[in-house]
Amino acid sequence: MHYTNYVGGKFVDTKPAFSSFNPATEEELGQFPETLPEGVCEAVDVAAKAFKEWRQVSRIQRADYFWKLANLVKERIVELSQAISLETGKSLNESMAEVNEAMHMAQYTFSQGREAFGERVASEIALKDLQTFRKPKGVVAVISPWNFPFAIGGFWCAAPAILEGNTVVFKPSEETPLVGHLTAELYHQAGFPPGVFNLIYGFGGTGATLVNHSKVAHICFTGSAETGRRIRVKCAESWHKTCSCEMGSKSAVIVFDDANMDLAVNACVTSAYKLSGQRCVSAGRILVHWKIFYEFIDKFVEESEKVTIGDPMKGEFFMGPLINAKQLQRVVEYNKMTEDLDNVHVLLKGEKMDRKGHFMTPHVYTSEWCEHRFLREEVFGPHVAIIPFNDLDKAVDIYNDTIYGLSLAVCTNDFRKMREIRERCDYGLGYVNLPCIGAESHSVFGGVKASGNGSPSAAGTFRAVTNEVTWTVNYQDQGFQMAQGLK
Ligand code: NAD
Repeated sequence: MHYTNYVGGKFVDTKPAFSSFNPATEEELGQFPETLPEGVCEAVDVAAKAFKEWRQVSRIQRADYFWKLANLVKERIVELSQAISLETGKSLNESMAEVNEAMHMAQYTFSQGREAFGERVASEIALKDLQTFRKPKGVVAVISPWNFPFAIGGFWCAAPAILEGNTVVFKPSEETPLVGHLTAELYHQAGFPPGVFNLIYGFGGTGATLVNHSKVAHICFTGSAETGRRIRVKCAESWHKTCSCEMGSKSAVIVFDDANMDLAVNACVTSAYKLSGQRCVSAGRILVHWKIFYEFIDKFVEESEKVTIGDPMKGEFFMGPLINAKQLQRVVEYNKMTEDLDNVHVLLKGEKMDRKGHFMTPHVYTSEWCEHRFLREEVFGPHVAIIPFNDLDKAVDIYNDTIYGLSLAVCTNDFRKMREIRERCDYGLGYVNLPCIGAESHSVFGGVKASGNGSPSAAGTFRAVTNEVTWTVNYQDQGFQMAQGLK
């Protein structure tokens, strides 16, 4: 099947250039165009033209389209979940959760139509009124990763941008164009005016052209730290462009000696292996207090051995395949780095499974905290380091000692330890007695340091895609008075 770009309310005729594959079976799912610079310009021009009218539509009317969109998602939840599992290798249960997350974002966006989007501010002068409110930026480029192909691009980013009066050009990941197509189909069915939501396919080159286009005002980017860094540099070089970037991590669960052991082990298994360790928030590190270290590793290894791996479409397996052969090879290389080292003990050796598809088993090892790359870099697979610590200060130091700061969970029943972790660690998402994964659309989602530029996604996108302005009105009949006694 050959799919085409969606620009100006139409599926436009574009030649196929690359294919999408099912990572579990390696079968082709469809063919897609690679959008060249002219195609990018055309999409941005269409979006820029549509912006002039869309920004003048009432906020409540703009929001009404999201009621329809949310209901369309609800009607097609099974088909959408299956498509996500087919294209990403995510287990059907995780795909359903992603579709729910997207639907919640559409519902929340609808609700925001009737919420205040500014406030009245007091003035020193009695007959002067000040108000602040948010204005749309213009054309918003949405560039998304493959691991949440439905919820992130079309909903966490595009929906708030459109509600606020911007128009969108969305480039989905080259790994998940089929889910991108379904997103465009839903926006089309919901009846958004032509040019408000546009979708173009392509690789990093198409994304870079979109980022560089002079008419793009803001970039909502989610993906790797290196791509995000490049986008931030481009924005810094321009006068008008801004970006909100959500990037990778080396997230962690910190387990104290007073923790409920079963809860902690379950939280760690969920944090490490959901989506086969390919979530932005996946725990590549588990920090465990020395007093319970050996008990913990025995139980964690026992549970890791029970993790079932198989066809994501069946829904009964905990882990599916990795996204592609290149990612599998990358994980194999990181696993190899942990072998034959004095201070590293491999407890479970992760390997490619002898079957079709990019399936891998978990790799688990213990290590003292040190400079090894595998302890500090995002691996993006079922690759877990268990690191001992002897006091709270050391746990904080180890946790903070990477370039990232996305997600952490702490397992403890001591509210003082919980508070210290909350206050002293660098993160965007913190969890207590829970896995370090999971999100709800009506809260902000993002990270700090190399994990994000502090402009979070989901509920945070409404602010990221708008400029906040102050508007002052003088009601005196004759003349005007200035604040601060200025004559
Ligand atoms: P990636 O950076 O390779 O690609 C992400 C998107 O950027 C793709 O659409 C890609 O085509 C595009 N792109 C690549 N080079 C570009 C360039 N120079 N200019 C513009 N666009 C470009 O990431 P990926 O492999 O698809 O996704 C995995 C990464 O995403 C992981 O690091 C993961 O942690 C991160 N992620 C972060 C979050 C979060 O909210 N923090 C959520 C999901 C995934």
